[in-house]
Amino acid sequence: MKKIILYLMILTLVMTTLAGCTTQQNPTQAAVEPTTAPTATEKETEKIEEAKVPKYIFMLIGDGMSFAQVNAAQVYMGNNESGKVATKNMNFTEFPVAGVATTHDSTSFCPDSASTATSLSTGVKTHSGVIGMAVDKATSVQNISELLKEQKNMKIGVVSSVTINHATPAAYYAHVASRNDYYGIALQLAASGFDYFGGGNISKPTGNEKDQKDAYEIIKEAGYLIPETKEEILALNSQSGKVYASSPVVQDSGALLYALDNKEGELDFSDYVQNAINVLDNPDGFFIMAESGKIDWACHANDAKTTIEEVIEFENGVQVAIDFAKKHPDETLIIVTGDHETGGMTLGYAATGYSTAFNILDHQKMSYVAFDGLIKKMKEENSGLTFEDVMPIITENFGLLPPDEQVADNPLALTESEFQKLKDGFAESQKPKEERNYTDEQKILYGGYDPLSVSVTHIINNKAGIGWTSYSHTGTPVAVYASGVGAELFNGSYDNTDVFNKLLVATGLAN
Ligand SMILES: [Zn+2]
Repeated sequence: MKKIILYLMILTLVMTTLAGCTTQQNPTQAAVEPTTAPTATEKETEKIEEAKVPKYIFMLIGDGMSFAQVNAAQVYMGNNESGKVATKNMNFTEFPVAGVATTHDSTSFCPDSASTATSLSTGVKTHSGVIGMAVDKATSVQNISELLKEQKNMKIGVVSSVTINHATPAAYYAHVASRNDYYGIALQLAASGFDYFGGGNISKPTGNEKDQKDAYEIIKEAGYLIPETKEEILALNSQSGKVYASSPVVQDSGALLYALDNKEGELDFSDYVQNAINVLDNPDGFFIMAESGKIDWACHANDAKTTIEEVIEFENGVQVAIDFAKKHPDETLIIVTGDHETGGMTLGYAATGYSTAFNILDHQKMSYVAFDGLIKKMKEENSGLTFEDVMPIITENFGLLPPDEQVADNPLALTESEFQKLKDGFAESQKPKEERNYTDEQKILYGGYDPLSVSVTHIINNKAGIGWTSYSHTGTPVAVYASGVGAELFNGSYDNTDVFNKLLVATGLAN
């Protein structure tokens, strides 16, 4: 309908011009005048074309976010009482278009973020660990940000809740054979000429040997403003020039705080999406890739409550894009997807059978990272720390209760075997890492995580009815949700490389 109205308006304009602009034309009369139809000038044809092409594009990636991660958040926000069944839609699950994308890379069905983000950003399959390069690990492939900057003069923004030179954000501005080349990636950030970077810090800013020139200095020398405080970041606007808004408060070696741990209202994922818009808004449009990287990190650690809170904060970031789109309804495209699944998360667990009890997760007050920090601090203050010292802290922050006849009916009461698992986990966690000679069974129990905290999260997750199969990524496909101009292209089942191909079609790029 909008296309017809636009067509009629242009037709009227043409007829008005032909008539010497002396009389008012009735658009209905104009429309029934067939001889005038083909006379639209090139400029007006362009206008019609322009109307179909998004000027503002949001590519929002939940790292490690597949169906179970989204559904877990929906169940948690819906009715999470045991035996009750209700889910709450998320803003992006209500988008008019949904597709499914396979995520395998050139050598594995369980890919990593480097190869999957490269597929999303460049349309090629490559090896795990490779960023922005073809399967030969040598040929750089132009990514969507570079193409949009070059051909459309769009401003480019890259946001991540983890370090800004981590694999997923890097795939939107860098080309390296190894994702571990953090320093090389940071230098490519400086040289990109892109307009906004925001969220996490630079990982290894002085290189692996810590003897190279500070990447922050190099980024400044390349003309980027690096604000130092929350207030300075919030004051950024479209006159700020090129910006790298690196979070003043971080956790996990340079990442934003987990939403579950952000008690003081520090800047979070959605704040940085808004910040990117504030800086990038301009008449030529923008492309913003915003990655919620800590969904993946929480899933690696098999911590469901932390994962769910990250997905909810990711949804807040999507809302910022939706609010922007409401002001630019005919010019905005929003794509929401995951790069791969992490953890083999699922709803349903052997011990709980057909039951779930997500309300149990209400009792978890902090992430596994914050809990590790708390126990570490206790140990520093008391070198003879015992399990008896720690158990009340577990009860306080996760709700789990020691086995006792008086609490036998309480769903948070530990069974004897669960209690033993916690004791074993605590005993292992007190050993220095080099002395932990895990059996095969222990490797599966603890992965690379602290044996106490991962035992706590496994137990509370399993009681809620959530299972995990891996500490790594899995081959489960991901959903692609789309809304706005060109969204209909993202319907159906396809490979993740087609997300890039569809974006080319949506934006009319030559490649
Ligand atoms: Zn991962």
